[in-house]
Parts: sequence; C-alpha cells; structure tokens
Amino acid sequence: VNALIPEFVPYYLDQYLVIAQVFGLTPLILLNKMDLCQSESCEAVEYLNYYRQLGYQTLYVSAIEPESGDGFSRLQKALQGECSVLMGLSGAGKSSLLNALLGEILARTQSISVANQKGQHTTTTAQLYHIPSGGDLIDAPGIREFGIEGLTRAQIFDGYRELEPVLGRCQFRNCLHLQEPGCAVKPLIDDLTRFPAFRRQNLLRMLQDAQ
Ligand code: GDP
Ligand code: ZN
Repeated sequence: VNALIPEFVPYYLDQYLVIAQVFGLTPLILLNKMDLCQSESCEAVEYLNYYRQLGYQTLYVSAIEPESGDGFSRLQKALQGECSVLMGLSGAGKSSLLNALLGEILARTQSISVANQKGQHTTTTAQLYHIPSGGDLIDAPGIREFGIEGLTRAQIFDGYRELEPVLGRCQFRNCLHLQEPGCAVKPLIDDLTRFPAFRRQNLLRMLQDAQ
C-alpha cells in the first residue's frame, strides 16, 4: 500500500518487492488516496506506471472514494480467491482499506474483542478476515512493516525484475556484479535506458542497508 500522502517513496516499495520475491508472495501494488489526485501532486502515478510496465499488477484506488482511480471494485476483484496481507508505511491507509473491504465485519470483530476484555485488541493480534466480495485478508500488524536487514546480495538482485534476463549469465558463478570480467548484470544496471536512475539508486542503497 502506497499513497499520495505521505509522500510516495519508491525505496520502500522496492524493499517490499524484494521481500515479496524472497517469500514467494505475489505483489499487488496499490496507490491509495487517488481522491486527492486533483489537489496533490500525482508524481507517484508516474512512478507506479513504471512498475505497471514492468509487469507488476498495479491499482490506483481510494479507501474513501470508490470511483477514484481504477475504482475500488478492481481491488475487490484482484483479492478474490487470494489470501492477502496489507503491507506499507504508517499513514498509507491500510486500516482504511481494511475498513472499506470488510465493512461491518471489522466493526463487529472489534466490538467483540473489546467485549471479551482480554486486552486482545485487534491491532496487536493477527486476524484472518473473509472479505464479503471474495478472498481472505490477514491483518497482522507485526508484518505490515519490516526491513531488509540480513537479506543476501543475491536475494536483493533477484527482487529487481529488470535483471531477470541476465541473472545467472555472468562468467563467474559467484560474481558480485561489481567489476568482475564477463559480468552480465553490471552493464544492465548502468544502462539508463534499461534500468532507471531511481531503481539503480534504490538497489545500491538496499545492498548497503542489508549488510
Ligand atoms: P495506516 O496507518 O496505513 O493504517 O493508515 P490509516 O488507514 O490510518 O490512514 C491514515 C490517514 O489517511 C487517515 O487520516 C485516513 O483517514 C486517511 N486516508 C486513508 N485512506 C484514504 C484515502 O483513500 N483518501 C484520503 N483522502 N484519505 C485517506
Ligand atoms: Zn555479475
């Protein structure tokens, strides 16, 4: 879940995409708060168009204005038959989307957990919800936001879809893609026409941050 506000930061999205790849999850990239697209800068839309072109399923939605962007029904449809979890930075609108998707189911669950008086608030325990329009949704606050510490270099490179055609094609199997002879990856990363500057910057930053 990304949003027009707080400002869209591609670095976090790239992290989530790497993490999804590592765990074998299928990413669905959301840009939320499209109802604000008139009043706020829509630069994020341009960014997300790039991910869309890369082949990621990408939807422009609003948790409060169902007709905005691609429309909320497209999101409901995308979740059908899947078990999904909302991940994204604080303030992006995860709780609001959960509300919009679940309607009164959520309100009922929350009032039950309050009634139980177990201190078992919905924001601290994992919940599995059945979405009325189809599909399941896990709300697990602990896994909404996490970092990339400890990921290997190989895992990070694997998370960059542009590199798919060249990964495994370096002359040396243990190539670090720095300046080894016969490296197939480095030339692609350095080619702005095949690898945009912001993705390159995020990749290099992630390689550093993961150590
Ligand atoms: P979370 O931290 O990711 O769970 O984000 P919240 O759901 O708590 O939303 C953060 C703020 O953004 C709240 O003030 C919401 O009312 C607001 N918000 C969420 N979704 C939308 C949206 O689609 N449009 C607008 N304009 N505001 C939204
Ligand atoms: Zn290489």
